[in-house]
Amino acid sequence: MDTLECDVLVIGGGATGLGVVRDAAMRGFRCILVERVDLGQGTTGRFHGLLHSGGRYVISDPRSATECAEESATVKRIAAEAVEDTGGLFVTTPADDPDYADRFLAGARATGVPVQEIPVADALRREPRINPGISRAFEVADASIDAWKLLWANQRSAVEHGARILPYHWVTEVVRDGDRVAGAVCHDNRNERVVRIEAGFTVNAGGIWAGEIADMADCPGVTVVPGKGIMIAMNHRLVNTVVNRCEHPGDGDILVPIRTVCVIGTTDTAADSPDDLDIHSDEVQQMLDSGEVLVPGFRQARALHAWTGSRPLFKDERADPDADTRHMSRGLALVDHLSRDGVSGFLTITGGKLTTYRLMAETVVDAMCAQLGTARACTTADEAMPGSEDGRHYWLGSRLAAQEEAMADDQLVCECELMPRRRLIEAAARRPGMNLDDVRRVLRLGMGPCQGGFCTYRATGILHGLGDAEAPKADALLLQFLQHRWLGLEPILHGDQMRQACLDDWIFQGTLDVEHLPVTPPT
Ligand SMILES: Cc1cc2nc3c(=O)[nH]c(=O)nc-3n(C[C@H](O)[C@H](O)[C@H](O)COP(=O)(O)OP(=O)(O)OC[C@H]3O[C@@H](n4cnc5c(N)ncnc54)[C@H](O)[C@@H]3O)c2cc1C
Repeated sequence: MDTLECDVLVIGGGATGLGVVRDAAMRGFRCILVERVDLGQGTTGRFHGLLHSGGRYVISDPRSATECAEESATVKRIAAEAVEDTGGLFVTTPADDPDYADRFLAGARATGVPVQEIPVADALRREPRINPGISRAFEVADASIDAWKLLWANQRSAVEHGARILPYHWVTEVVRDGDRVAGAVCHDNRNERVVRIEAGFTVNAGGIWAGEIADMADCPGVTVVPGKGIMIAMNHRLVNTVVNRCEHPGDGDILVPIRTVCVIGTTDTAADSPDDLDIHSDEVQQMLDSGEVLVPGFRQARALHAWTGSRPLFKDERADPDADTRHMSRGLALVDHLSRDGVSGFLTITGGKLTTYRLMAETVVDAMCAQLGTARACTTADEAMPGSEDGRHYWLGSRLAAQEEAMADDQLVCECELMPRRRLIEAAARRPGMNLDDVRRVLRLGMGPCQGGFCTYRATGILHGLGDAEAPKADALLLQFLQHRWLGLEPILHGDQMRQACLDDWIFQGTLDVEHLPVTPPT
């Protein structure tokens, strides 16, 4: 067994955990973060993509509304590269309660969420596809955010401050030394070895799995209810602004433009388990119907991909046990295991939103410093992260502009997402042993309209050519990637997307016979 040592061990490589490790490293602690798979494969990589202005919660959850308003302004500043500053609209459609709009305005004033009413004609000029029957329109500071870019920026910043980030390290045991948590034992899935990490302090940032991790530390009863939601990516940007229905939060009432597509979502139902990712056909129909209310003709666009995620909803034992998950607080939850369980050296931070990840990190690291009796100020809101120093936000044409400059000598691997060969080679050099799902997260391989039909085998060939993957391993990576993509394709197969899937199937089965290739299982 290998043994590592640190001041602070962070469990969980989602937005919250990466925010915590950056914060603690910037305050001068020697930190290690462990994540059981790749970074952002929990809820953070399965969300809707909205950097909330707070508008959505002005009535249903005022505390979250204020937190979102303040934090989204900070995130736009420190993680500019991950943000597309689309702006947002709240519109009253013919299906919405017209009285809600005045309550919405009053709620925004009370919670400090910047909102401005604009003439309906201006809203329709800005977004010509939205429902022409809207009766009121409000401008808000919504934006869209790329969760993976946000994670990597936090990772780079944390590493620059001396932290170690260990993906594919699965915590199997939280180590207790009497009344103190003394670290954890992990299984390193890539190298098939066991690693013991001795830590002065351990922060549980396990999202919906935080209860399981607290159980391992013998601190039972941390109840995190998974609030499952479905989202569907449509094949192009039907809107360029985030468009919300001005109504009590409900299903399918937000359309978010993200990169080359737009995403409708979401539902919110209690799931049986944090790992329940099933998509039901009635949920798909519900999303497409909701899309029609916002954008008439929505169903004629092509649904590209569907996925689900589960919100970590911390259950306040004093709240109504019968309340549905949409009415649980979206606020962050800090669980102090010293006062609650008499266990020192251990804190849990869960709940919240991706938008409030930095505040969650600040809150838990402040609490840790208080327990350790050390005063070290948080500076995460002041310093821009690597890649965002110039404050420039992402813009849709950026990949095209880069491609135009390098046109003559840079071959495209993925036409939908304009992913050049050079970027793949650079990414493979930075992350030896990366699989095709990692390439998807890093470079958006297979996320455009053809869903990997043309680019996947090219990328596999390039990884093989680089000597990174022997032929049977490369074949296995290809097969695994196609199987993972299929999970999100199968629930939405109809119309043009069915034709696309048949073409892709012919390429992979008819031409390459992928299912019968000799493979060695990927690690
Ligand atoms: C459908 C849906 C839509 C959403 N939309 C938005 C939105 O538009 N905007 C917004 O701001 N928020 C949104 N959210 C909320 C937001 O996505 C989450 O609050 C946030 O991503 C949670 O981040 P996290 O780091 O706390 O949890 P996670 O991202 O789940 O991270 C926890 C990590 O812990 C790891 N882990 C678990 N067990 C272990 C172990 N034993 N060992 C090591 N690692 C372990 C997991 O693999 C995981 O990566 C949405 C959520 C859902 C479900």
